[in-house]
Amino acid sequence: MMHYILLVLFLSFIQTTHADVLFSFIGNQIKAGSKHSWVQDVASTSMPITVIHGQYPGPVLTLTAGIHGDEFPAIFALHKLRQEIKPERLRGTLIVVHLANLEGFHARRVALSPVDEKNLNRVFPGRKDGTLTEQIAFFMTHQIIAKTDYLIDIHSGSWNQTLLPHVYSPVMNNASLDKKTLALAKSLGIPHIVLYDERPRDPENAISYPNTAQTRGKPGLTLEVGHLGQSEELDVNLIYQACLNAMSHLGMHESSEYPMENVVIYRKLVSVQSTETGIFHPQIKVGEHVEKDQKIGWVSDYFGNLIATLRSPSAGTVLMQKETPPIRKGETTTDIGLSD
Ligand SMILES: [Zn+2]
Repeated sequence: MMHYILLVLFLSFIQTTHADVLFSFIGNQIKAGSKHSWVQDVASTSMPITVIHGQYPGPVLTLTAGIHGDEFPAIFALHKLRQEIKPERLRGTLIVVHLANLEGFHARRVALSPVDEKNLNRVFPGRKDGTLTEQIAFFMTHQIIAKTDYLIDIHSGSWNQTLLPHVYSPVMNNASLDKKTLALAKSLGIPHIVLYDERPRDPENAISYPNTAQTRGKPGLTLEVGHLGQSEELDVNLIYQACLNAMSHLGMHESSEYPMENVVIYRKLVSVQSTETGIFHPQIKVGEHVEKDQKIGWVSDYFGNLIATLRSPSAGTVLMQKETPPIRKGETTTDIGLSD
């Protein structure tokens, strides 16, 4: 009984002290146990952001949608999360970036911004006086990544891509960071995880958004769910559940469904590039296992005549494929994960 009384006293002490703690974020002071959404000015564009600052202490997790303009399911998953997560029950803080690339979204553009033709996920850590996309990256590096402990950047297949839901878990050859990153990746409940050790290690040339977190010692994952520019309910729900699973893993939230243990780890990703310009005819589906030299599709000229046969360079699982007809020589048609 005495222990119980002490525990209650201790918990009420934590609650009352933490309730007074403000989360200072882009000039805002956000009170513990509250939720705020606003449209933030960033250079000449804007960025819709929600912060849910929990009643109890815990880590800061950033969830981001819309780095690429036509990848939609995460937008709806994060709407649901904003609606459902109660700050008075949350441990730690959620930073939700609802749409990182608003110009690309309204232009329905694949990967690039219509303003400067740059890919936001290739210009990190950004430049203060750069083009619009570089300024967005600079803002995200200094205002968002600087305040976060963990980051999940959520993508989908563009209008021309199908993909198997998978997670990119970067490897930095830093034992403690790599362990934390992989544990977070496994917690999502997505059974396909690609280890990625080919990213730059220089914080000043980090290139991608999650890698900017990684080069600053913070786990940063990429989650890929959804295809062909669609917003299917199944994909939205898968992302929503993955976010809840990550929060549960980080001790921020109690989730009723705990993630699976049986994940397939891919140690390398290889791509098939078209050897001709013309019309692509895929002959395999995402999720399929292919053997080395297996035919994965063919390219015809504009009259329908065969001009190239495309084959897999290795045995593995098809994780991504372009599934619309236009193809140019050198463009990737297919990504294959190697799990040996
Ligand atoms: Zn993307």
